[in-house]
Amino acid sequence: MNYEEFFANGIQDLKTEGRYRVFADLERQAGRFPKALNYRQDGTVHEVTIWCSNDYMGMGQHPDVLAAMHEAVDKCGAGAGGTRNIAGTNHYHVLLERELADLHQTESALLLGSGWMANMTAFSTLGAMLPDCVIFSDEKNHNSMIEGIRHSKAEKRLFRHSDVEHLDQLLAEYPRERAKMVAFESVYSMDGDIAPIKQICDVAEKHNAMTFIDEVHAVGMYGPRGAGVAERDGQMGRITVIQATLAKAFGVVGGYIAGTNAMCDFVRSYGTGFIFSTSLPPSVAAAARASISYLKEHNELRERHQDRAATLRKRLKAAGIPYMPAPSHIVPVLVGDPVLCKQASDDLLTKHNMYVQPINYPTVARGTERLRFTPTPLHTDEQIDELVEALKAVWNGLELGRPAAAAE
Ligand SMILES: *Cc1c(COP(=O)(O)O)cnc(C)c1O
Repeated sequence: MNYEEFFANGIQDLKTEGRYRVFADLERQAGRFPKALNYRQDGTVHEVTIWCSNDYMGMGQHPDVLAAMHEAVDKCGAGAGGTRNIAGTNHYHVLLERELADLHQTESALLLGSGWMANMTAFSTLGAMLPDCVIFSDEKNHNSMIEGIRHSKAEKRLFRHSDVEHLDQLLAEYPRERAKMVAFESVYSMDGDIAPIKQICDVAEKHNAMTFIDEVHAVGMYGPRGAGVAERDGQMGRITVIQATLAKAFGVVGGYIAGTNAMCDFVRSYGTGFIFSTSLPPSVAAAARASISYLKEHNELRERHQDRAATLRKRLKAAGIPYMPAPSHIVPVLVGDPVLCKQASDDLLTKHNMYVQPINYPTVARGTERLRFTPTPLHTDEQIDELVEALKAVWNGLELGRPAAAAE
């Protein structure tokens, strides 16, 4: 076996297909969001506007968040010092878990190293230990849910994306007594669509199934206190497991689940991804808590956030750029070809200093390659106009498609 050749061939395959991933080398500038410095391969450095950040609200640079982080570093030092079980439970973790339980109005919450780990750990633990459990999983669920379900070795049934009737049919194939879990997201981050949470809960209840929702792309951004779409829709109390991240709208890092005392204690006690991994640095917990608590009180930021997405859509429509309509803060612009998608992204960056990552397979289906824009409350009208002008130039340069609607 020639190992080097094997690795090199694997990479060449991705390049041939046009979906080899190149990271933009960026330096975020605290206080200047959405501006950042971009270090290029030719050795030059350029100021760019970021258009695809999952720091959806700019909280990663909020003064309250930074102050909380600085204070905790000065008080507690850099790392947590262990797993939660072995000297790694810091008071800041305890406070953060209380804040999360308050956010979701649950009895309890449990912190994990990341949103990915939270899904992996919760699904693999619950799916493996609930006797003979069947997991009904939306076909568009995130990789972390898929991996967790796979790892649980539970029986898995896929239901068509947000198709409540299909879910109902699949659930009806199993006896009422059998353990069942319905797994879905609230905001799907690549299309920007939102799940019918109430209807899903209705069907789950009808069949005595528990519910597991991933609110990663919704916490901080939806609901009067930023607890997510389930809060906005008045469904939060009906969900068995609420999972989310501290890394996106909250702007820090870490993941969690929220629910009853018994459920959280169960994952705490049996979940290997919790037990055997060092807890988050206290400063991270302090920063996340400051961010959550700020967003709870600042609904005007959520209104501004939605307004920015609406404004971008309006300007794209006027310019004839084919965005995919969606009821959320996510604005995907379809290119439909991996090579052109990457080229459009490269041109935006190198010719216009606008950074938006190309989204290719396997993140989205082949033929639906896209640029995914996430305007934040901190993007100005002027920056939106600059982006749309740049997109027009790139669209003309690459002769990309424009929808018929744009002719109006
Ligand atoms: C990003 C993401 C995760 C993982 O969260 P991290 O905190 O980044 O590990 C989980 N679910 C969905 C839907 C995501 O997009």
